[in-house]
This record gives sequence, structure tokens and C-alpha cells, in this order.
Amino acid sequence: MTDMPAAPASRPALDEWHLSVVEAFDVEPRLRRVVFSADTLDQLDYRPGQALVLRMPLPEGGTGRRDYTIRWLDRQAKRLAIDFVLHGATPAPSWAKAARPGDFLLAHGPRGRTMIAADADWHLFCVDETGMPALRHMLETMPAGATVHALIETASAQDETAIETAAALACQWLARNGATPGPNALVLGALQALPLPAGHGQAYLMGETSNVRSWRHHLVQSGMPKAAIFSEGYWRPGRIGGHDHVDD
Ligand SMILES: Cc1cc2nc3c(=O)[nH]c(=O)nc-3n(C[C@H](O)[C@H](O)[C@H](O)COP(=O)(O)OP(=O)(O)OC[C@H]3O[C@@H](n4cnc5c(N)ncnc54)[C@H](O)[C@@H]3O)c2cc1C
Repeated sequence: MTDMPAAPASRPALDEWHLSVVEAFDVEPRLRRVVFSADTLDQLDYRPGQALVLRMPLPEGGTGRRDYTIRWLDRQAKRLAIDFVLHGATPAPSWAKAARPGDFLLAHGPRGRTMIAADADWHLFCVDETGMPALRHMLETMPAGATVHALIETASAQDETAIETAAALACQWLARNGATPGPNALVLGALQALPLPAGHGQAYLMGETSNVRSWRHHLVQSGMPKAAIFSEGYWRPGRIGGHDHVDD
């Protein structure tokens, strides 16, 4: 008798959430927050930095998958918030701009590999505005005594709003000032000029895919172990929904 081959490991099914809009408002000129409720949200278990996959209504009918970070969760009130970058007239920001109390959205998750490395001596965030909800939520949960450096690409200086954290945070804001979002060397230039501290560091890289890849390559060339770098491509010109793993 031969042994049966082991069944291929399959991904566990993601939990399903029936979200109902409570309110929607602008937190910054190009950032709209939508607050949702759902009867089961007290059971949502996630790590700051993780996302939900939203079934976003499409103009041609049906829905498409769009990944959005959990900005905050209030289990007692059974509410959560998502911050949508208003980057254009595409399905997700269009939906967020039009969202009214009672509107429905189906979501699955949480998902995502990025998590705070509690044992790191220092933390480095490199993000564009799509990574800011993750950065803000993760920094809110960091303890006093944590050392954090953040390089943040924004559309303009108007997007520079206070970041709540107990950690010792050194922040560099890098505004595009009218340039189109996409592949650029804004954060890379600041990163190349940044001496990495001694000790065991952890990097969190979230944003446009080719930028994330250039940040990762620089850190690897600077001697950072790949295992100490979380890097995820959150969007890319021409790509519809989804995400890119940046592991090379
Ligand atoms: C794990 C994860 C978490 C994320 N969290 C957030 C979040 O909290 N908030 C948030 O705003 N985004 C977040 N994103 C990014 C978001 O999922 C993408 O920007 C998504 O493509 C937006 O969908 P859309 O319907 O606007 O555009 P799509 O229909 O997907 O794309 C249409 C066009 O718009 C372009 N495009 C997409 N996003 C941008 C952008 N930001 N700037 C310029 N052009 C763009 C595309 O390249 C494409 O050409 C996250 C992505 C991942 C993978």
C-alpha cells in the first residue's frame, strides 16, 4: 500500500463581513474616511497593518476586489473605519465619495503579512499615501521607547497631518507638489541619505510597487536582512485592484 500524497496546503477561507456605512467624511483634502458597522465586528481579530478585501461595485456592474487597510476597529461599538485615498475617478474612491449611511459593502479578511516586530531595536517606515492608514494605525499601537523613522511621500504639504504615537518618531514628509503619483525617486533619495542605526531594525515598505522594490533593494544592499523587511506593492499604474508581493 502506498501512502497518499499530502493534500496541498490551501489558504484558509477568509471571514466574511457585511459592512453597513455609518458615516463618511474627509479627514484630509485627498483622504475620505468611511465608518462602517456590522453585527459581528466584535469578532474581528486582526493586527494593525492588515487589510480587508472589499467587493467594490464597478461602473459596468458587478464587483471587483480592492484591498483596504483597517484604519481602526472599535469592537465594543462594532464599528471600523477605512481611509480611501481620493486619487481619481476609479471605483474605490468614487464609491467612498458617494457613500451614504446604510450603503452596503461585502468584505473578506483580515489579510496581510505586515506586522510590528516588537523585538526590533528600531523601525523604518517608507510609504506613499496608500500606506499611511497602515503606518498611522501601527504607530498608534507602538509603545513609548520604540524608535521609529518614517519617510512619507504625499501629494502636497497639505497632507502633513499629526501622527499619533507614543514612540520616538522622526518623520520626513516628501511632497510630489503636482507631479503624477507613480514610480519616482522621492523616498528613495531620502532613504539613500539616511544612515541606518545600529542594532536589529525592521522595515515596513508600502506603496507603489516599483518604488517599494527600489526601497527594498537599497536596504538589502545596505546590509539589512531580507527577513527584516516587510514590503508590499499596494498599487501600480495600470493594474486593477490586487497587490504585488515584493520579495526579491
Ligand atoms: C494590503 C493593501 C492595503 C491597502 N490599503 C489602502 C488604504 O487603506 N487606502 C487606500 O487608499 N489604498 C489602499 N491600498 C491601495 C488600493 O487597494 C489601490 O490603490 C486600489 O487599486 C484602488 O482601487 P481603485 O478602484 O481606486 O483603482 P483600480 O480600479 O484598482 O485602478 C484603476 C487605475 O488607478 C490606478 N491607481 C490605483 N490606485 C492608485 C493610487 N493610489 N494613486 C494613483 N493611481 C492609482 C491604477 O494603477 C489603475 O491604473 C491598499 C492596497 C493593498 C494591497
